[in-house]
Order: sequence, then C-alpha cells, then structure tokens
Amino acid sequence: MSIPHSFHVTAFYGGFESSNIFLVENGPHAFLVDAGMAETAAAAAEDMRKNDFPAPEAIILTHRHIDHVAGVPVIKRIFGEIPILAERSGARALNYGDKISTGAALFGIPLPSMSVKELQIEDSSLYPFLEGFEILRTPGHSEDSIVLFHRKSGFLFSGDTVFANGGVGRWDLPTGSLSELVKSIEFLRTLDVKALYPGHGPSVESGVLCCITPF
Ligand SMILES: [Zn+2]
Repeated sequence: MSIPHSFHVTAFYGGFESSNIFLVENGPHAFLVDAGMAETAAAAAEDMRKNDFPAPEAIILTHRHIDHVAGVPVIKRIFGEIPILAERSGARALNYGDKISTGAALFGIPLPSMSVKELQIEDSSLYPFLEGFEILRTPGHSEDSIVLFHRKSGFLFSGDTVFANGGVGRWDLPTGSLSELVKSIEFLRTLDVKALYPGHGPSVESGVLCCITPF
C-alpha cells in the first residue's frame, strides 16, 4: 500500500561510486537531494529534460563528500544558477575547496569549484520548495550530515547516515565520529520512518527497517 503524500520522488541511482540523486516534486516546486558524480548527474539531468520533469529550484546536499557534490556543475550547466545548499561547515569546506574533508584527495577525484550557500537548518520555512520537510542534523558520517524528513508522511532522505538494509555510514573519514553517529542513529530511531531514500543503494518504500543500530 502506498503512503498518501503530497509530493513525488524520482530516484536516479548512482551505484557505489556515486551518490543517488533524488528529484522531489513538492506541490508547484521541485528540488534535488544531492548531485552525485558527474556521470550520474549528466544522466539524471538528461532524463529530467527529456521527460519534461520540472526544473529543480535548488540542490540540497546531505553532506560535503565528493561523491555527492561532484555533479553540481553538470546540473548547473543544464538548469542554470540554482542555489546549492549545505550545512554551514560543509558549505564552508566546499566554498574553500577543501580536498581533504570532502574526500576528493582520498578518492583522487577533482573537486569542482562551487558556490554553496549555508542551509538555514532551524528555519526550513525560508525555502518554499521544502514545504512540509524538516532539516535535521545527523552528524557522525561527517560533521555536516543532515537528513530531510517529511513528518506527515514519514519520508526520510537519509544521505549516508543510514541505508536501506539497516546499514550505517562510515565514520572513519575526516570529520566523522562514531560517538556522534551513534547519537544520530538513536535520534533517527525515534522518528516514524515509513519510506527511506538513502544516499547509496536502494530506497525502501514499505516495511522500512530504518535505523537498527548495530552498536
Ligand atoms: Zn559520504
């Protein structure tokens, strides 16, 4: 049984090396969650253009890692200068071109220069396209990790904090923290998650086993 909700999610799956990209059509608005690697972004943008999807008004980055952000310039080339938004420390790192904490140096992937705005986490009402969504801090995989939660429908865009099978993101990369990740997962377990859209791997739209802490 599908969950009644007022928005529509299209997933562009990235596989292991690229994050997934989600297009969320929210009433008259549309936005993207993450930008993936350049190839995934190009395929997603082409698909959106061909199939007359609404143009996204913004990209919300769940965190700063290169496999979630490298596709930003590709999407901007097609959809124009839309705002790119990330938690403050992630936005700073991306604006500065920090190859260490983004994982660009570690994975040998060039970090494109980009202008990222600080996401006003406590006041998601500033963003009409996010109507109905809350932005929640879930540090641990990285210090800037956030999730988007639609409380009314139980839809969670979880970035690399939790995955479909109850797996969790790694905490050993720069700015990661196991103790923060444990706290974030304990927090996510308090939410009534009915559909899970993680940064990698499949989405789960019924019988969600979200946030079974392995610790
Ligand atoms: Zn990551």
